[in-house]
Amino acid sequence: MWTQGWRDRTWYELNRPWDLIVIGGGITGAGILREATRSELRTLLVEQRDFASGTSSRSSKLVHGGLRYLRNAQVRLTFDSVRERERLLREGRGLISQMGFLMPGYAGDRVPSWIFGMGLILYDFLALKWGHKRYDAEGLRELCPQLASEGLLGGYRFLDAQTDDARLVLRLILESVQDGGVALNYAGVEDLLRLRSGEACGVVVRDSAPEGGGRTIEVRGTAIINATGAWADGLRQRLGARRRLRKLRGGHLIFPFAKLPLTRAVSVLHPDDGRPVFAFPWEGVTLVGTTDVEHGEDLALEPSTSREEAEYLLRVTNWAFPSLELCLEDAQGTFAGVRAVVDTGKANPSKESREHVLWNESNLLTVTGGKLTTFRLMAHAALRAIRSRFSGKPPLDPHRRMLEPPPSERCIQADVHPGSCQRLLGRYGSQAPALVAAAHPGELEAIGGGPWLWAELRWAARSEGVVHLDDLLLRRVRLGLTLPLGGLPWMDRVRSVVQRDLEWDNERWERERGAYERLWTDSYRVPGVRQEPVSVPLG
Ligand code: FAD
Repeated sequence: MWTQGWRDRTWYELNRPWDLIVIGGGITGAGILREATRSELRTLLVEQRDFASGTSSRSSKLVHGGLRYLRNAQVRLTFDSVRERERLLREGRGLISQMGFLMPGYAGDRVPSWIFGMGLILYDFLALKWGHKRYDAEGLRELCPQLASEGLLGGYRFLDAQTDDARLVLRLILESVQDGGVALNYAGVEDLLRLRSGEACGVVVRDSAPEGGGRTIEVRGTAIINATGAWADGLRQRLGARRRLRKLRGGHLIFPFAKLPLTRAVSVLHPDDGRPVFAFPWEGVTLVGTTDVEHGEDLALEPSTSREEAEYLLRVTNWAFPSLELCLEDAQGTFAGVRAVVDTGKANPSKESREHVLWNESNLLTVTGGKLTTFRLMAHAALRAIRSRFSGKPPLDPHRRMLEPPPSERCIQADVHPGSCQRLLGRYGSQAPALVAAAHPGELEAIGGGPWLWAELRWAARSEGVVHLDDLLLRRVRLGLTLPLGGLPWMDRVRSVVQRDLEWDNERWERERGAYERLWTDSYRVPGVRQEPVSVPLG
């Protein structure tokens, strides 16, 4: 859909009046674009970097109610989240999938196991789905033999879900564009246009893609939504509003599956501070996260997991799975994201509310906070808040699907391994058959033993709006997180598959490759651990 030349074509379209301008291409902006487009609003979404390059590709990938929110008495948030989880599981097969969680209880735990049992009854009751079960110590070890056995009293299994966060954002955006919405990446809002009254009436957008040469354009809209997540205060302050957000960073460790072979998620309380931490399988690797620390760094820089955070996560991993005797050298990478929460000055950052907020200031509606899981509710809340400006447009339909039904598996079954069919349909929706048809011989095979196919790289390079190599490797096809060394050893074959479709000459390729290697080394490598790329032959 976004074939070569699409950015230029889109840029020249910006110069028309819009009903709604959405600033920010994470899950919040994507959800708003999806619903606004279907409500017949002429809607433009602009993203300063790549789609989902903010927090929405750096979450823990869980589509969940969040048991911890029950602990903090945020029952409404849990209720909304588990209901949204169930809806997404129904609509997004192959992109959102159910995952079993184990919650072991040990002698001397700060919170006794029966309290979790009560919480799980409420959790399942809110979801209208009975999914939890109690196990004795032996039963739990059968489900997860790596669990520490000393003092294990038994525990619970319950059900939640997981997704590929960046692909969820992209699917929403692409389906909106198919319906007439317009979205542009590497298009940052530099300033707000204002009427004499002080009301915002448009934005100044700068093109930061290499081909754009830094051009700018003034774009006008009836309503403007600030969906810039952790960046939201920056735009609000341009209108003279005071700063209200606190930025909290969450880091993750990535282990090769062979080092931490979990088939289900395990949720434990960190022995240092009692915070819940998860270890779970995702896309062929095992993730452990997350931390919750103040993020004082410049948001223009890629966030990364500090050595201290990595050690904190390693401590809980070895506490939960001591027989594996893991060290940081066993991890293959890290990633971190920054969350925006309303600053109420709580000493413990984990106690700050995760509910979303809406602030309408001089015609700039800010919607931030919340969760990946609750994006649909955030989109509805934001659109209801500007509704009065668009009488005559169709009302929001709370029962409407967010994701379009994908085509039948039969369209791709003959060519694709059965295990990949549902996955491709979930991630690419109506585009899956075209992706399979575009594959060259050998490209329907998996890359490096993971779930990704070479054909997905070709497809992304050809039609998914890739501007830089990290868009391709960290967000479209997530080799940067799932392969050792961020996929650098596979780079020769990656190049042979994508360079022509990206229309990059050799000089551009080398520049992009160098920039990607620096980015991965600075922000995704395990801090303090030396990791040297070795090439995998083209094969
Ligand atoms: P973002 O995804 O950050 O998007 C905002 C976008 O705005 C960015 O892409 C940014 O580049 C862009 N932008 C900023 N300024 C401008 C500008 N001037 N012009 C144009 N664009 C601009 N939730 C869950 O449900 N499940 C989880 O497992 C989970 N895990 C999490 C783990 C961590 C570590 C963190 C931090 C959060 C987690 N969350 C989770 C919460 C969830 O990830 C976030 O709530 C959500 O991703 C925020 O989305 P967003 O679109 O509001 O912000």
